[in-house]
Amino acid sequence: MNSEKTYQGSCFCGAIQFTVSGGPDAMGYCHCDSCRHWSAGPVNAFTLWKPEAVQVTQGAENIGTYNKTPRSYRKWCKTCGGHIFTEHPGMGLTDVYAAVIPDFPYRPGVHVNYQETVLPIKDELPKMKDLPKEMGGSGVSVAE
Ligand SMILES: [Zn+2]
Ligand SMILES: [Zn+2]
Repeated sequence: MNSEKTYQGSCFCGAIQFTVSGGPDAMGYCHCDSCRHWSAGPVNAFTLWKPEAVQVTQGAENIGTYNKTPRSYRKWCKTCGGHIFTEHPGMGLTDVYAAVIPDFPYRPGVHVNYQETVLPIKDELPKMKDLPKEMGGSGVSVAE
């Protein structure tokens, strides 16, 4: 019932299928310790969507949830352990990892939590010390 573009996403094994529709509110890279530890990678490529833009189309019963804090509900596949997305109820946004929506034209605009980086990236995009003001951070920029 809508003409928005839809992109397919899945977990590592494919048991969970989902779509994202329209466009995200923000895209970028997060360097925070939580993202690194959860993803087991040096940086997390995020795309932030309104919750209603993310629809699970297959395998909903196969989704595990973990929330270390009430700010982040992390979702993964109970079969393969692959991560799919993280709900941030406080922000009213869902972080769909860019890596799990391979056909989506990911265009990062910002690096956040750059003060915690273990992998400095010199790409001339803005570097936020923590988060933008509108996301509850200081809004302070730092050098690459
Ligand atoms: Zn899976
Ligand atoms: Zn993070």
